[in-house]
Amino acid sequence: MTRAEQAEQPRDKAVAVDYSWQTEASCRGVDAELFFPATDEEAGAAKSICETCPVRMACLAFALDRNERFGVWGGMTEKERARLSPAARESIRRQAAA
Ligand code: SF4
Repeated sequence: MTRAEQAEQPRDKAVAVDYSWQTEASCRGVDAELFFPATDEEAGAAKSICETCPVRMACLAFALDRNERFGVWGGMTEKERARLSPAARESIRRQAAA
């Protein structure tokens, strides 16, 4: 089970959510707690898994679209995601859709 599968259900059930990218997630089978470090300084292990994940952009776009408030998604902590500019967010969404 991937982290996204463990996440809460879509907030707006009227909107179809694409979960197909999860089948290629590098974190499949990895303890999900690793991706919810207490501090950003403890996020290194999770980030190292994300670094080579083939679906990193899709994962990050998923977290941004859902405004995920906790955890490492797409190699970024919640604080790092919060600092992304609107232009950066749009770039990530475009890369994920490509
Ligand atoms: S980018 Fe990280 S959290 Fe996202 S699917 Fe890949 S390994 Fe899992």
